[in-house]
Amino acid sequence: LFKAVPQAPADAIFSILAKYNVDKYYNKTNLTVGAYRDDNGKPWVLPSVKKATEILISNPEANHEYLPMGGLQTFVTAAVKLLLGEDSIAIKEGRAVGVQALSGTGALRLGAEFLKKFYKRTVYISDPTWANHRSIMTDAGLQIASYPYWNAQEKCLDFEGIINTMKEAPNGSIFLLHACAHNPTGVDPNPAQWMKIAEVMKEKDHFPFFDCAYQGFASGDLDKDAYAVRLFVDMGFELICSQSFAKNLGLYGQRTGCITLVTSKKEYSLRCQTQLAKISRAIVSNAPRFGAEIANIVLNTPELTEEWYDNLKTMSSRIIEMRKQLHQYLVELKTPGSWDHIVDQIGMFSYTGLNVKQCRALMSKFHIYLTENGRISMAGLNSKNVKAFAEAIDYVVRN
Ligand code: PMP
Repeated sequence: LFKAVPQAPADAIFSILAKYNVDKYYNKTNLTVGAYRDDNGKPWVLPSVKKATEILISNPEANHEYLPMGGLQTFVTAAVKLLLGEDSIAIKEGRAVGVQALSGTGALRLGAEFLKKFYKRTVYISDPTWANHRSIMTDAGLQIASYPYWNAQEKCLDFEGIINTMKEAPNGSIFLLHACAHNPTGVDPNPAQWMKIAEVMKEKDHFPFFDCAYQGFASGDLDKDAYAVRLFVDMGFELICSQSFAKNLGLYGQRTGCITLVTSKKEYSLRCQTQLAKISRAIVSNAPRFGAEIANIVLNTPELTEEWYDNLKTMSSRIIEMRKQLHQYLVELKTPGSWDHIVDQIGMFSYTGLNVKQCRALMSKFHIYLTENGRISMAGLNSKNVKAFAEAIDYVVRN
């Protein structure tokens, strides 16, 4: 058996990371990393999360028992409320339900498995998108197609391309939408564009499958980052949304997430919740406890929730500041081209518009590591390396 198994293709991000790791240069820069770093380039444990962890581990009643099927209910309830808003009509009417999942990836997989069982239609993913979307959907057995997203010429959203593809797609198709801070481009539709997208999807009876991996991390405002999902709920859509607490709580390795389902009737939601829990049972049996307990304490302890809002602002404003500084240096250097997109984009990632040759030159000449599609993680920039990065961009663009 094993003899016939071929090598799996290398993951584009992890293979660049491997090159970074073996580079012995003292001043190398890693812009591939999809995790927040502080101004010293170090991982950051959110102070609110640290306090919640202390509360958790000092509780004499704490144990390592299995969670119930469907996960830690108080966490799930808080996660659904965080996504849809305190006053959500769907929550009030009992039409919104959640099941705990293995971070955003696990939630996407649960959603994909659910759709394969009950609504086997083609899933349209954005081009480009987070590479794992393709694998998750196809491994779950769904057909995929794509919708254009990035206008490379203008370095902005290909809004016309999105709308045209939605109009041309067979009625009732599934569209996987990034709720905010699109990965890899950092470009989101504006509110008017979201409205148009929703209208076209309604006309065509398309099904929205949202991926919400950066709520609060993108703008520092949890409500603003949930705008699109809430708009669709208000417009009467039924939908699925995956939620990750990797970025906004910094719980990356704890695999803390949730999948939320909004249906048009409470009885449908309750039935669907049992199906999601059943699917989860067959994949992971039981959701991981530690991260969910921590998130539960942060989300359900008012003082810690307040502190968390501040922590979100710390992370998002540092990233926004790096965008501003990078942009400013490029303008000062008069680097050929327009760089406004750097400040117009949002979230962890930025599509710089640099081509493969320029990206390779950044790696070989300047020891600056990024994926060859020109995507950089803004979190890898800090007050010590941003100027040198701008100068390196200037060099590769001119040569
Ligand atoms: N969706 C998107 C768009 C992402 O960028 C990520 C993280 N890179 C995820 C989902 C899932 O992350 P996780 O499984 O770590 O929550």
